[in-house]
Amino acid sequence: MLYRTMKKNGDSLSILGFGAMRLAQKDQKIDEARATRQIRDAVDQGVNYVDTAWPYHAGESELFLGRALSGGYREKVHLATKLPSWLIKAQGDMDRYLDAQLKKLNTSRIDYYLLHGLNTPLWDSLKSFKALEFLDKAKKDGRIVNAGFSFHGVSDLFPNIVDAYDWEFCQIQYNYLDTENQAGKKGLEYAASKDLGVIVMEPLRGGTLGRPSAPSAVQEVWDTAQPKRSPVEWALRWVWNHLEVTSVLSGMNEQSHIAENIASAQNAYPDSLTESELQLIEKVAQTYRKIMKVGCTGCGYCLPCPADVLIPTCFDTYNSMHMFNTTAEAPFMYVMRMGGSLTGKPGYASQCVECGECLERCPQQIDIPAQLEKVASELEGPNLTQLEQMVRQILYKPVDS
Ligand code: SF4
Ligand code: SF4
Repeated sequence: MLYRTMKKNGDSLSILGFGAMRLAQKDQKIDEARATRQIRDAVDQGVNYVDTAWPYHAGESELFLGRALSGGYREKVHLATKLPSWLIKAQGDMDRYLDAQLKKLNTSRIDYYLLHGLNTPLWDSLKSFKALEFLDKAKKDGRIVNAGFSFHGVSDLFPNIVDAYDWEFCQIQYNYLDTENQAGKKGLEYAASKDLGVIVMEPLRGGTLGRPSAPSAVQEVWDTAQPKRSPVEWALRWVWNHLEVTSVLSGMNEQSHIAENIASAQNAYPDSLTESELQLIEKVAQTYRKIMKVGCTGCGYCLPCPADVLIPTCFDTYNSMHMFNTTAEAPFMYVMRMGGSLTGKPGYASQCVECGECLERCPQQIDIPAQLEKVASELEGPNLTQLEQMVRQILYKPVDS
């Protein structure tokens, strides 16, 4: 296992982190025995960063880790969890959630504590509740050691948040398709220039970049690869190739995934991919982009929309469904992202009133209202209300449940 050093605190983090969002399951619950074996096995092989959050596995992930890391494993890892930003409705809530998380995780301190999933409304809301003072206090009294944030907002917001506090680290979505979305490459480089450690999530874009059933045009490019590597290994190595990245989270739930990822992490040094390997991955990315339905880069210039439509997020979910053939799970992801649970108000495509304000702001000259109509017709089916209920059950498990 390779390790990279956090500039602000000198911690040596394994370049492969264990994400506890997609643990092994049985009968739609965490498979306690299997998931415990897997996480301990990963730690035994050198993984020393474990990431979870309040809503993962409907609140069960933190409880599971509290048990799975007993017997000496807790002290072998840097444990990360996140404040459920969307549940904070009063200043005192932040202390209540952190205290509950310490209890659930069966620990006296969180090594890496993040404000979860920041975007513009959540950042504004947390600032109004003095979240930065809360982080100072929690550090001072020892409940947390390092403070960071995870990010899902538009690119312009990212440097503002980086500059707003003396963060030790941040967590961003980054993979060979998301170089312009959210924080993007610019954000990665900015955070690193300010000495923040950067934890990368979604290196496989929710697993889709690693699916064995890639679209045929993409598979044709992979078939020309030398040396032969799996799409998962190419995707991880591409992220690790960036010197600015500290650790990459992988949601591992099969023994074979763990073995493959750990093997890749033995020699994935920064700048170790050759020019022709980088060109190959760029060709795969371009091929994926060609089969996108809407040529949206996620720049966010079309926002704000007076009808609150989350335009780039709508297109991102729609594109992902078509690129990766995820028709079954896409409506759930759509409701999760657009239903307002994380932002306070819904941003569905169907809310568009065709005012046309966004049209001249889009550098890609996308006919946004026309494309949104297609998004709504394919993703807003008759079971929308049912999906909203499911999302609420997952995200809104309150502190005293
Ligand atoms: S045309 Fe639709 S999406 Fe664009 S700004 Fe108006 S309401 Fe929003
Ligand atoms: S629709 Fe246009 S302006 Fe809006 S995020 Fe996409 S590319 Fe940018």
